[in-house]
Amino acid sequence: MRWSTLLIPTLKEDPAEAEAVSHKLMVRSGLVRQLAAGLYCYLPLGQRVLEKIHAIIREEMNRIGGQELILPVLHPAELWQQTGRWAEIGEEMFRLKDRGKRDMCLGMTHEEIIAWLAAKEIRSYRELPQIWYQIQVKFRDEARPKSGVLRTREFLMKDSYSLDADEEGLQQSYELHKEAYGRIFGRCGLNFYVVESDPGMMGGAGSHEFMAPSPAGEDEVARCKSCGHAANVEMAASRPTPPTFPSWSSLEEVPTPGARSIEEVSRFLQIDPRLTLKTLMVITGEGPLLCLLRGDHQLHERKVQRLVGPYRPAHRDEVKEVAGVEAGFLGPLNLELPLVIDEVLAEGVYVAGANREGYHLRGVVPGKHFSARYADIHQVRPGDGCVKCDGVIAVERVIEVGNIFKLGTRYSTPLKAVYLDEKGQEHPIVMGSYGIGPARIAAAAIEQNHDGEGTIWPESIAPFQVHLLLVNVKDQKMRGLGEELYRALMAAGLEVLYDDRDERPGVKFKDADLLGIPYRVTVGNRAIREGQVEIRRRRTKEDSLVPVAETVPRVQALFSRTRGG
Ligand code: ATP
Ligand code: MG
Repeated sequence: MRWSTLLIPTLKEDPAEAEAVSHKLMVRSGLVRQLAAGLYCYLPLGQRVLEKIHAIIREEMNRIGGQELILPVLHPAELWQQTGRWAEIGEEMFRLKDRGKRDMCLGMTHEEIIAWLAAKEIRSYRELPQIWYQIQVKFRDEARPKSGVLRTREFLMKDSYSLDADEEGLQQSYELHKEAYGRIFGRCGLNFYVVESDPGMMGGAGSHEFMAPSPAGEDEVARCKSCGHAANVEMAASRPTPPTFPSWSSLEEVPTPGARSIEEVSRFLQIDPRLTLKTLMVITGEGPLLCLLRGDHQLHERKVQRLVGPYRPAHRDEVKEVAGVEAGFLGPLNLELPLVIDEVLAEGVYVAGANREGYHLRGVVPGKHFSARYADIHQVRPGDGCVKCDGVIAVERVIEVGNIFKLGTRYSTPLKAVYLDEKGQEHPIVMGSYGIGPARIAAAAIEQNHDGEGTIWPESIAPFQVHLLLVNVKDQKMRGLGEELYRALMAAGLEVLYDDRDERPGVKFKDADLLGIPYRVTVGNRAIREGQVEIRRRRTKEDSLVPVAETVPRVQALFSRTRGG
């Protein structure tokens, strides 16, 4: 296509509010424009990238037997009420009323609609399994839409759903998706990890996330440097290095005047902070609860929430009122309060608050001096030990590009999506759901592939394959050569962006680097004088001079050489 006729509004300056590299580059290279917070227009180049990604997704989904369909974005509230999510989900859901005053919502995801469809259309075990997918708009009123297209309020998602007769079937559909997702992200040129994750609002029995490492990500993955085992920090377990325990053989109350924080107490008693117990009071739906952690650890909100439901930290005066002591001297002994203790503390002897102003207890042995429910409630930290091997954990920022869920019968039961088995007995359909964000793939690809000049598109998802740059449109001879090459490259089936604009060469070269199309073919003075064009690989900036007549086969060869890589 000819640049002179296209809408490719490149910019010299970064947009003021942008922080993420992908945000800056997508705006500067004219791929997108922001309409309002979390709402983006995809301009022609951006749309081409999305279409490339969609094509890869479709190929891989079709390969595992997926069938494409399309479902409405506007949903009647009843379906969401029947599964309970109408009430469960808060402000993230866009809700509205139709002219008949009926409650409606804009789909954040489509489990309810799929289960409704399955309830209508699936009768017998003979019709299972099924995989249904769509590439369709989702709406989520995100609290903090930011980082360009990484987190928007309206976005396209490829969402697929598996329907199976039993758990074994689900396991197979899940594995098929896991493999397909690996191929999709690999083909899109992403570096990614597959990690264990928290199913969150989807519910169900297990899930994995596909994470592209990038500082622009909003998630963190804990990953073992030795065995590669990885989990979202929301889920990740670890074995923190234990301290050397002293031989405190009896329980002793020691004065710690003015020492309240872990730091103050360990300094005052001249002990390793890892020998202290941190006692935190939180308020759950059932009332006050004490959470015990090793002194140097932080409470992990999501882990606690999974255990006890929604909660909040107690205020200072609540602690005083309930325990009769200031928070700084709060401890686990002699209080009639439910306790959760981090499993790291199953071993050892510690110093804890004495529930008496100005005092701590030395020689506290969990399990002996008090009993509590053990659970993993600490945040994983870099340097902790891996739970699967002897390795050490690193924590890395990542972008979630895909997420797969084993839903089980969470949706089929309330929506009565059932089938009859060989004996005519009724069972709920066992479901899985699987999401990918094409815009996040595009942005993650930029985050992982760029330099100071601009994007370096992976060949598979670049908006064009070849950037044909005509140095001087006013030079008749040069122009003639350019036109000839343009036609020849197109005839060879290559996707060509032909920069035929009447612009200074410097501007054109800068724009070419910014856009990041894998190969640039320059038709300049040398083409006239010596009959040679310059082919430049954007990634390495390697140049090679090629006789005009050999341009097409040379470019074709470059593609076949690197295809799949
Ligand atoms: P996040 O935790 O980042 O909010 P999520 O876990 O809520 O995402 P899912 O429900 O798992 O998202 O959606 C599946 C996929 O859709 C995600 O892996 C991501 O690629 C994409 N996606 C989700 N939310 C957004 C968004 N607000 N903007 C762009 N893409 C999104
Ligand atoms: Mg997710």
